[in-house]
Amino acid sequence: ATRTGALAIESLTVGYGGAPVLHDVSFGLRPGEIVALLGANGAGKTTLLRTLAGLVPAASGSIRLDGEDLALLRTEQRARRGVALVPDGRSVVAELTVDENLRLGALWRHRGVARERAVAGIYDMFEPLARRRQADGHQLSGGERQMLALGRALIAEPTVLALDEPSLGLAPLVVAQLMGTLRAAAESRGLTVLLAEQNVTSALSIADRGVVLDLGRVVADAAASDLATDSALRHAYLGF
Ligand code: ATP
Repeated sequence: ATRTGALAIESLTVGYGGAPVLHDVSFGLRPGEIVALLGANGAGKTTLLRTLAGLVPAASGSIRLDGEDLALLRTEQRARRGVALVPDGRSVVAELTVDENLRLGALWRHRGVARERAVAGIYDMFEPLARRRQADGHQLSGGERQMLALGRALIAEPTVLALDEPSLGLAPLVVAQLMGTLRAAAESRGLTVLLAEQNVTSALSIADRGVVLDLGRVVADAAASDLATDSALRHAYLGF
């Protein structure tokens, strides 16, 4: 089958009524590629992910998925075409069990046997969730909650996965495990991943490429290994 999940962001400008927050942003993601979206607080990472998901309209420019312009599609239509936004662990419903939370992500995509198969597929991939399937959301650790948010997005079988700072608030060891799980899931499912992170080292450790935003503009777009070793760039934009 043809691989899908190619994303092309072209001259994208986005604002919230005042001055634009993203200016003329262009970069692409090949199918199956993991791209780290880096930049300081307020650089525009969240805005870019929200624009991709259809939660914020673009003022100009375009985002194409496998050649199709997403501009006129609502969030739900983009989801049906395979775009999934993983919100942070706080999106887990505290009063529902892990299993119930997971099934929420599958409701619109699968029924009956297909749904059971999709749920089983997530438990196969995420051992810690399988062990905690009857635990309530509020009983989970931060890392487990983040993993559940990821599992709930994956159960709808997206082709493009956008994550907004999954490492936020997690201990370094937990971050490392989460990144490893994300990389494995992306590889096994052939996902295209846009990973917004302030945790530069962790993000670049699993990314193929990195794109750096500064005040809403792309200031670097390079192989992850090159970015990780570019000390001038790190000092200028990434704070270390
Ligand atoms: P963070 O790590 O804090 O999420 P970010 O790189 O994701 O940073 P954004 O959240 O996209 O950055 O914010 C970029 C700019 O847009 C900031 O100056 C922010 O104040 C502004 N902004 C974000 N959301 C809104 C909004 N709903 N209305 C007005 N301005 C906003």
